[in-house]
Amino acid sequence: MTASPIWHPFTQHGLGEPSPQVARAEGAALFIADGRRIVDAISSWWVTTHEHCHPRIMTAIAEQARNLDQIIFAGWTHEPAEAVARGLRELMPDELTRIFFSDSGSTSVEVALKMALGYWANTGRPRHKILVLEHAYHGDTVGAMSVGARGVFNAAYAPLLFDVETLPFPAGDGAATLERLTALCREDPAALIVEPLICGAGGMKIYDAAILAEMRRICTAHDVLFIADEVMTGWGRTGTLLACEQAGIVPDILCLSKGLTGGAMPLAVTMASEPIFAAHLSQDRARMFFHSSSYTANPLACAAAAANIAIWQDEPVIERVGRLAERQTRHLEKLAQNPRIANARRAGTITAVEIEDSHSGYLSDLGPKLLARFRQSDLLLRPLGNTVYVMPPYCVSDEDLASIYDGIEDAVANC
Ligand code: PLP
Repeated sequence: MTASPIWHPFTQHGLGEPSPQVARAEGAALFIADGRRIVDAISSWWVTTHEHCHPRIMTAIAEQARNLDQIIFAGWTHEPAEAVARGLRELMPDELTRIFFSDSGSTSVEVALKMALGYWANTGRPRHKILVLEHAYHGDTVGAMSVGARGVFNAAYAPLLFDVETLPFPAGDGAATLERLTALCREDPAALIVEPLICGAGGMKIYDAAILAEMRRICTAHDVLFIADEVMTGWGRTGTLLACEQAGIVPDILCLSKGLTGGAMPLAVTMASEPIFAAHLSQDRARMFFHSSSYTANPLACAAAAANIAIWQDEPVIERVGRLAERQTRHLEKLAQNPRIANARRAGTITAVEIEDSHSGYLSDLGPKLLARFRQSDLLLRPLGNTVYVMPPYCVSDEDLASIYDGIEDAVANC
């Protein structure tokens, strides 16, 4: 492989890890330039929901490319964005009346935090404290890092981060979390931000829907804004369109990205309830929402999102998700019998386990060994330290799913 000047994300180039060149993707498979077929067991960083190169999404992008590539979105609009907005209003909870576009999960979180502080500032009751969950991950921009767990991901950048209040992870019945939340809510924080049901990059840690519902209830009772970051959990990942549905709750602010375009294009939305929009609505230009990026609501990305929304509206996606969840359960139960496997768990289509190791956590030495072994087995799996998770596209075949779990058994035996 010739040396490339590319600096890859979350990659320690000093270890000389290869970066195979992917030439083509189809279904749940990636095809390497050298002809190898790799099973994408993590949906290319959790974005590919239905399948790679979904024909309806690809066609929508190609058709859009013939008409309009890009247009400033401040003061202008276009049909793909309007179609996405209409579709989201049909699919998402009625209370979320307003849609703000951005480009990634991290930016959808930045927007959510700014909306929350803007709401309090514009209603004449400035509040700024943000409450977060232990083990949270909300992205890698500075605001998103600030509301994420402190640790190896962001230690070097700590001087840039703002202070937050952290609730203990809602383990068991969540009593400690709920107690702390109630106490902190008395100090008038601006908002609580959560990953509903499962903290993803923090280790695929799952908690109960009843605790999520209770967190929402406490926030409402204390007039604290509730932000749901469904960047990973949205679009069916946890078995329902939104994870919040399982708790019967609607947030004040909702972050969506990844599966918004079916995983084909970078796009995000932050949906807000009417009072949050209304707080910014004024004859006074100083109260507008001061946020943009050059590519806000890019028409090609919006065309992909509109096609994804149409797929959700026309096709039995939730049934596919349910079938994948059942198939995942069968494999997980078998894997859990391995004596080196602990804490086998599942949230909808996502499964996760810990592999016994002398040192757990993201920097566990087992991680790179597992990664190398998975590569040899033609699997795209990216352990979080000694935590291995499986989150394939919904179209994954029985054969490919079996090969993923065979690959994990093999790695457990050989690493
Ligand atoms: N929020 C959550 C819950 C995520 O899992 C992620 C990424 O994995 C993000 C935000 C950041 O998204 P992006 O990588 O698109 O910026």
